[in-house]
Amino acid sequence: MKAIRGATTITKDAAEEVKSAVGELLNEIYRRNALSGDEVISIQFTNTADIRSYYPAKAAREAGFFSAPLFSAQEPEINGALPLCIRVMLLVENDKTPVHVYLRGAATLRKDITEVINIALDGPAGGGKSTVSKLVANKLNILCLDTGAMYRACALKFLNDDVNINDINEVEKAVARLDLRVEYKDGKQLTLLNGNDVSAEIRKNEISMLASTVSALESVRNKMVELQREIAANTSCILDGRDIGTNVLPNAKYKFYLTASDDVRAERRCGELLAKGQSADFNQIKNEIIKRDLQDKTRKIAPLKQADDAIFIDSSLMTAEQVADFIVNKIQEKI
Ligand code: C5P
Repeated sequence: MKAIRGATTITKDAAEEVKSAVGELLNEIYRRNALSGDEVISIQFTNTADIRSYYPAKAAREAGFFSAPLFSAQEPEINGALPLCIRVMLLVENDKTPVHVYLRGAATLRKDITEVINIALDGPAGGGKSTVSKLVANKLNILCLDTGAMYRACALKFLNDDVNINDINEVEKAVARLDLRVEYKDGKQLTLLNGNDVSAEIRKNEISMLASTVSALESVRNKMVELQREIAANTSCILDGRDIGTNVLPNAKYKFYLTASDDVRAERRCGELLAKGQSADFNQIKNEIIKRDLQDKTRKIAPLKQADDAIFIDSSLMTAEQVADFIVNKIQEKI
């Protein structure tokens, strides 16, 4: 069983206002959650003490929502509470992820749900960005965009097509015909090249350095940044990369820079590769990571750098879960 939350406000305490606000709220909740009547077990309202003109539960019944038991209760008077507010909780039985709905003035109660929020998470290879961003995305019920995967896919395509990366014209043409898309399945990012899922292939160790080399090319960066901004404009998401806070979304409200010692980062990368059945030599991986970071930090365009307003996190002695909780707490303080 799941709970779907919702809230709305009215402008004055009048029965007609309660009826229309309740109808609108429930219709929106049913629409955004694609709910059918038999999935709903109960609908429970509360309203602030300044609403006395009508029962929200009665308004719901009259608006046609009578297939589930309805209930309403009045909240106590609390200083600073949002005035003239009606809240609802629907208990439902289905397999869908609940979409909570905050309308009118109640949108201010849950800015994390009603506003598009973008979180920039930058840092060097192996700092834990992708694990942490998945955890944060889960906790906040938003998407995560692994921007490194996009550069990796581009590198894979250039490799397969034998693109000469020293020839600017050839690179520009290859970028122009690049069919790269990011989709989500069960909350997991799929990276598609010409419609084919290359999510596993781009993780191979030999693609890492090539991705770094390709990512220094201006036409490649322009295309990737354009795609990333398009996704971030309409979707609440955490973007992990190298230049999100400094270049892709310089105005992002939440920015973090995540790193760890070279040894810890190399150990993590080895662990990831071994878990995927690939070979991993600690010293070799450590050297590769250091070399790649240097290349990322010293390239001319959008180098890896902590944004001035990003919060620095050293995860050497922290678990991914601890880093994710730290980030979520910082965001909630600011929302
Ligand atoms: O994060 P990941 O290791 O998958 O990234 C692969 C490479 O892609 C990085 O080494 C970096 O050169 C490049 N990249 C970038 N900008 C980003 C994300 C990744 O230049 N926003």
